[in-house]
Amino acid sequence: MARATKYVYFFGGGKAEGRADMKELLGGKGANLAEMNLLGIPVPAGFTITTDVCTYYYAHGRKYPAELKAQVAAALARSEKAMQKRFDDPANPLLLSCRSGARASMPGMMETVLNIGLTTRTIPGVIRLTGNPRFVWDAYRRLIMMYSDVVMEKAAGLEPAEGMGIRHRLERLMDEMKAKTGAKADTDLGAEHLETLCGQFRDKVRQVIGKPFPDNAQEQLWGAIGAVFQSWNGKRAIAYRRIEGIPGEWGTATNVQAMVFGNMGGESATGVAFTRNPATGEDKFFGEWLTNAQGEDVVAGIRTPSPLNEETRSEHDAGHVSLEEAMPKVYKQLAAIRAKLEKHYKDMQDIEFTIERGTLWMLQTRTGKRTGTAAIRMAVEMIRQKRITREMAVTRVTPAQLDELLHRILDPQAEKTAKALAKGLPAGPGGACGKIVFTAADAVAAAERGEKIILCRKETNPEDVEGMRAAIGILTALGGMTSHAALVARGWGKCCIVGCGVLAIDARAKTMTVAGQTFREGDYVSLNGSRGIVYAGQVPTVDPDPENPLLVEFLAGCDKVRRLGVRANADSPKDAATARAFGAQGIGLLRTEHMFYGEGADKPLFLLRKMILSSTPEERRAACDELFPFVKKDMKGTLAAMAGLPVTIRLLDPPLHEFVPQGEGKQAELAKALGITVDDIRRRAEDLHESNPMMGHRGVRLGVTYPEVSEMQIRAILEAAAELGKEGKKALPEIMIPVTCSVNELKDQAAIIARVKQEVLKKFGLRKLDFLVGTMIEIPRAALTANHIAEVAEFFSFGTNDLTQMTFGFSRDDIGAFMPAYQEKGILAADPFQTLDQEAVGELVRVGIERGRSVRPKLKVGICGEHGGDPASIHFCHKVGMDYVSCSAFRVPIARLAAAQAAVQDVPAKKKGKK
Ligand code: PEP
Ligand code: MG
Repeated sequence: MARATKYVYFFGGGKAEGRADMKELLGGKGANLAEMNLLGIPVPAGFTITTDVCTYYYAHGRKYPAELKAQVAAALARSEKAMQKRFDDPANPLLLSCRSGARASMPGMMETVLNIGLTTRTIPGVIRLTGNPRFVWDAYRRLIMMYSDVVMEKAAGLEPAEGMGIRHRLERLMDEMKAKTGAKADTDLGAEHLETLCGQFRDKVRQVIGKPFPDNAQEQLWGAIGAVFQSWNGKRAIAYRRIEGIPGEWGTATNVQAMVFGNMGGESATGVAFTRNPATGEDKFFGEWLTNAQGEDVVAGIRTPSPLNEETRSEHDAGHVSLEEAMPKVYKQLAAIRAKLEKHYKDMQDIEFTIERGTLWMLQTRTGKRTGTAAIRMAVEMIRQKRITREMAVTRVTPAQLDELLHRILDPQAEKTAKALAKGLPAGPGGACGKIVFTAADAVAAAERGEKIILCRKETNPEDVEGMRAAIGILTALGGMTSHAALVARGWGKCCIVGCGVLAIDARAKTMTVAGQTFREGDYVSLNGSRGIVYAGQVPTVDPDPENPLLVEFLAGCDKVRRLGVRANADSPKDAATARAFGAQGIGLLRTEHMFYGEGADKPLFLLRKMILSSTPEERRAACDELFPFVKKDMKGTLAAMAGLPVTIRLLDPPLHEFVPQGEGKQAELAKALGITVDDIRRRAEDLHESNPMMGHRGVRLGVTYPEVSEMQIRAILEAAAELGKEGKKALPEIMIPVTCSVNELKDQAAIIARVKQEVLKKFGLRKLDFLVGTMIEIPRAALTANHIAEVAEFFSFGTNDLTQMTFGFSRDDIGAFMPAYQEKGILAADPFQTLDQEAVGELVRVGIERGRSVRPKLKVGICGEHGGDPASIHFCHKVGMDYVSCSAFRVPIARLAAAQAAVQDVPAKKKGKK
């Protein structure tokens, strides 16, 4: 006969049937309770009913497997033996708790019932044993309250109106009792008041719910077990799982455990502690405790707890006695458990304990949640203490935690109570608090006055760049993660929220209306750009520490572990310096057009416009010649700043009409310079108009139709490199052709490059010049014909912004209207402009690399779309064997971490040196 499935796992008295690595079956709490027993740590005895029972329960119309009853009875008998008490025994009764415990922690999302087993049969026995009737009646009233709420109401599916639930009704009875007896706090109620109250509670339960509160210990126990399983599919739990991405199939385990009491007088206490400080990471035992109290009193903040020890006492604790002082022996025992747990789990633990009349019991241990600062400190110090390896340390810090350390953020404490107005896309991380303005000009003017401002726009275009630079935060109603505002903000490390569709922005009236509230110029808002949340009013911000030595040490550790190279998208010598400071190993994308925006761009922009609005090749060539020195100077500056590290320079990409001046003044100035009328200018600008500019005359198509424009840029790059060489400085440009779809486009441009190269060699009297020629792969056809393209291209850089746009057919600037609905309805799990779509876009990347390397095995491959800074996408890039990722300078540390995590978690696709 097959052995019956094991559904119940006992633990207690130093023995356990489970282990820490059985979280899937026993849940986190159950697995760790078992493990603590195995470590010889005192844990009240009990048993875990497995997650399989939860699955069975839902698959079989809320029924249990037939074997369960007997297995529970057997485990209960073992628990009774370990605790030397018996459940439902009038003479020496054992009381039980019943708690949920899923694989992943879901704090407060499911139900708990305490003090199970108190009945008219057992109450006298408990009173006799404790000699404390007040304590017993208080425990009984807590049981009635919890049980009627959790089991009889919630689990039974009753949904009373707001304020009419059984818990509220019982609380009102308690308030009445307090008023009648003149008691101020619950603790002022005496034994006889509580006993009367328990009678009133039971009457009320019968009257409201229509059923008596069970006076049978077994009925209470099974009611509580059912309620815990039932709470896996409660509203709160379902909502939490959706946010945290926890699968519904996992189910919860149920832990039934002997009760121990921290509220049995002065020798009893309860507390919560962390084996290291969860806020700072400091290696000191940190926690809080309350004498004569139950666990929920600490968590609920009803009373102010006291510090655990003298070492961690703060100014808020004046007058409080530490556990170390009050109960030195127990404290020593607890401190020894702390050391044992950390050594065993090799990570900071979050623990709960109860002291019942001088005896210490551990109720929980789990990996503790921590701030970014603490995560870094613990990782670094645990390596130093030889507690963990460098590879383990890399997995101890999440990219989001690292991000916390890199930007000014909203004060997390203040943010908790701030009023959230709206949610948009988290385009530029960090926090910002400032006065709102509605135009770029107003932003510049306000910044000149020294004000901190947030630029609110419906959308942004290149003409807003000055205003964006001046603002400390940017907020737009439209646009996606790769929209112009988002790209620019990330490049500058600026806080930015885009695609916040609920904002009604009227730039003319200078108002922003949201949730029925109208904001005017000068009103304050605060942005959390890491989460995309907009708050009304002022939320204070806190600064990061720029030269945090622990951070530097941690990232150096990541560099030793990773295989992928990390470069930055940077467009100017200044950005290049920032990129190097953050550890970039080169520039993966220099968008040349950025030299025509922002500070100092007036003259080159004017010349570019002149070039664009030229109507003959001669006119255009003349304008190019004028522009040439500016471009060369810019290229030389960036190449010099990177000191011989590779710099991928992309030839002009955007559709030209983006640069056509809109304002009348600028149009008149340009007309004068070209010797034509303003009407001529307008006419030429109209000729440049396109219905679909993103798929129009842009990228390499410009180079094919206006070869003199490519030539000017190529010459500027190669002369800059040659000049640096002559000056004894190293330069390594990589000329990159954008938006390619056919190898013939590349051949066309390569011919120009070959010719200009010869001319430059001759001019500078050189025999060779180090540079590469490559292309972006951002059109599906390019990925699919990569074997042809690689005949000419020496490197590929996947432009996954456009590749995503072209693969999905979603305009990257216009996803705001449908992307939220797509995600809400589960049509798409994630915004593909934020996280690379591995199924299709990723497949094109994979195929592109494979085909490219089939003809050029050493083809260098990177990514420069926004996905290059997204951790999940970086894992993918590692897996498909890319050489490097490139992202905004401010995300370089995140990419260094994510690349290291990918190397630890995945088997490297191919062993290759870092580029
Ligand atoms: C891309 O398309 O992924 C890319 C990097 O180029 P851009 O965003 O400038 O179009
Ligand atoms: Mg592109």
